[in-house]
Amino acid sequence: MAELTYISVILPLKLDWEPCYSIPEGMPAESVAVGDRVKVTFAGKAYSGVVSGVGIQPETEPSKIKAFDCLEDGLERIFPEEIELWKKVATYYMCSVGEVYKAAYPVGKINLEEAHAASIARSRARQERLLESMRLKTQRIQERLEKKQELAEKAKEGTKAKAKYIEDSKKIQEELDRATTALRDAETKAALTEYTSESIDTEAIKDVNLSEAQTEAYNHINESFNKKAPVLIQGVTGSGKTEIYIRLAREAIEKDRNVLYLVPEIALSRQLEDRLSEHFGKRLLVFHSAETASSRRATAEAIRSGRGYIVLGTRSALFLPHHDLGLIVVDEEHDSSYKQDSPAPRYNGRDTALMLSTIHRCDIIMGSATPSLEEIYNCECGRHSLVRLEERYHGTEDSDIEIIDTKAERKKRGMVGNFSRKLISHIEKALKDGGQVMILRSRRAWSSAIQCTECGDIPKCPHCNVSLSLHKAGGIDRMVCHYCGRTFRYSATCVKCNGEMKSLGAGTQRIEEEAAALFPNARIARLDSDTAQNKTYEKQTIREFGKGGIDILIGTQMLTKGFDFGGLTLVAVIAADTFLGIQDFRADEKAAQILEQFRGRCGRRGRKGLTVIQTSQPEHPVYKSLVSGEKTEGNLNLLQERKDFGFPPYTRIIEIAVRDNNEKRADLMVSVLSDRLRKSFDITGPYSPAVDKVADMHIRLIRISLKKDKRLSLHKEHLMQEIRSFEKERKYEGHMTINVDPA
Ligand code: ADP
Ligand code: ZN
Repeated sequence: MAELTYISVILPLKLDWEPCYSIPEGMPAESVAVGDRVKVTFAGKAYSGVVSGVGIQPETEPSKIKAFDCLEDGLERIFPEEIELWKKVATYYMCSVGEVYKAAYPVGKINLEEAHAASIARSRARQERLLESMRLKTQRIQERLEKKQELAEKAKEGTKAKAKYIEDSKKIQEELDRATTALRDAETKAALTEYTSESIDTEAIKDVNLSEAQTEAYNHINESFNKKAPVLIQGVTGSGKTEIYIRLAREAIEKDRNVLYLVPEIALSRQLEDRLSEHFGKRLLVFHSAETASSRRATAEAIRSGRGYIVLGTRSALFLPHHDLGLIVVDEEHDSSYKQDSPAPRYNGRDTALMLSTIHRCDIIMGSATPSLEEIYNCECGRHSLVRLEERYHGTEDSDIEIIDTKAERKKRGMVGNFSRKLISHIEKALKDGGQVMILRSRRAWSSAIQCTECGDIPKCPHCNVSLSLHKAGGIDRMVCHYCGRTFRYSATCVKCNGEMKSLGAGTQRIEEEAAALFPNARIARLDSDTAQNKTYEKQTIREFGKGGIDILIGTQMLTKGFDFGGLTLVAVIAADTFLGIQDFRADEKAAQILEQFRGRCGRRGRKGLTVIQTSQPEHPVYKSLVSGEKTEGNLNLLQERKDFGFPPYTRIIEIAVRDNNEKRADLMVSVLSDRLRKSFDITGPYSPAVDKVADMHIRLIRISLKKDKRLSLHKEHLMQEIRSFEKERKYEGHMTINVDPA
């Protein structure tokens, strides 16, 4: 009897165990290895899984174990390092390995990948057909030539006919030479096409010349790398952190290693893409969710078999089939866009990058002008090395800051719509001097709510507990829910009392309209998630602004991300108060980061810039630290506060969310669960978030704060068991999500 071998398989499901299968009869056991993709049937459905163990001891009764259906030869094999990363992510973020696998290899992608593979095969076949017809043509010419030469030989010496045959032969010979050369070229090209699609390692890399300050930072970085310590580079905007990353990446590649360069958002990668490709040419691969599936597939393939690549991507690029990694760059590490909120795995790209660097034993550098408190803490306790770069490359000083009190201005009639007269004159001056302007407003749409002037009613989304925003597009007014995306007809009169409606809280659309009226000669554009729907528009706007073809760019937080625009001399924030009001222990840290980052966008080419902040709370401490420039001190104060209140990074926060379309049941379940958890954990809640109903689901939250000690992972395990058994007992599966380190 043949010896049975059992394998364990990771399935793309929320399943906290790996089912066991036997190898089908007749298939040699050696043909299955860890990382292979297999088709299996699980609970009556077919899945494509990943072999995670071979020759395992089954826990189930052997007679109950089914054979897997077949090997999926068409699908790529998974590297052991990938599985290792999935497991680390699953453990840390309290989800299943299968959920990570699903995120790394989405099914839709796999199907399109097959399509792409087929298209490669198609174009290869097309090329082969072309070559075949060229060969045939050459052969025919050859035959014609031979015939003429035969005739020429047979013809009598000195006759006209003989001269003609010789003449013709010559012509045919030339024709043959041309055809042969063309065929040879085509053959070489075909061979090269196959070759270059995988090999990029002949591409030369353009180096950078580092300034003195940059060289010093660079040397410190290398010292830390030699000690195997992750590095945090805290460098003011415009100090040339990117140049240092380029140098480090180049060196990694020259050592025959690969590089992963992470950015928090796609919008940011656009500008960087141009800059990096100038240095790395074809070695640069770009990977993010806005790329087409086939392009992502091509990138993944190039990485799987490639050498000397640098991949620029958003957090999902962490799950590419990396190998021989030499360096990971985490640009703008403080950015909360690194955190995935939904679905699981709810991971933070920066922290996952750290896990990836331990798996590959490679260097990792995180950079920011406004580092996260988490990273500052890591450096404070010596786990990571802090390298500072305080000097701007172009020698510019920090821009001046002017804080405008909008409440006071309003009293003095100093406001025109949402612009203060002071800001208007600053903008006029900046434009007159040939500079460019950016205006930040945190709300998109025309207005974030509307209200009846008679009865005070504010229309809300029937499915979400949130007011509807007013959007104006192409002369049509609509109301849109920013949470569920539903749109509603707009009526200028109140549906309840027929009163007149007024708008509350101007959004970017309205600011754009006001700016157009105030600065009629300026070229104005807008960048927010509405306009970003159109990827070409977004790309063009960023390029156009960079070239100086736009004078005023209005937008949401997108504008504050690491763009590098030489002509920008004035940045202004309208109603900065929206950044302060958030009920969250991170609010002040985030507000300070946003304002500091935005400020850093201007005055990058030797010209000193100006930052104008319009606010109704000018005395807020966030502005104080911005004006005084005491960033380090401000950070240490914030750290101390976090310590005093027992917030991260001194503790770990785990947020449990309950979602239910029945409000009573949501309340009941969350209170039963919190009573149960309170026995073993330090919990806050249950409470309702600011928006407590989204898409007909009522949301309740519990926050658990865990001490960061040796027993942390034990506590997490215990918590997981509690939640699972609660779900089972109450038959409440599918209603709860766990979020470790919520943003
Ligand atoms: P950061 O990433 O720290 O914000 P950048 O790398 O974008 O700074 O540098 C700001 C500007 O200064 C860029 O336009 C960059 O090209 C220029 N720059 C910085 N360092 C150098 C250098 N060593 N040589 C040439 N230009 C540099
Ligand atoms: Zn809604």
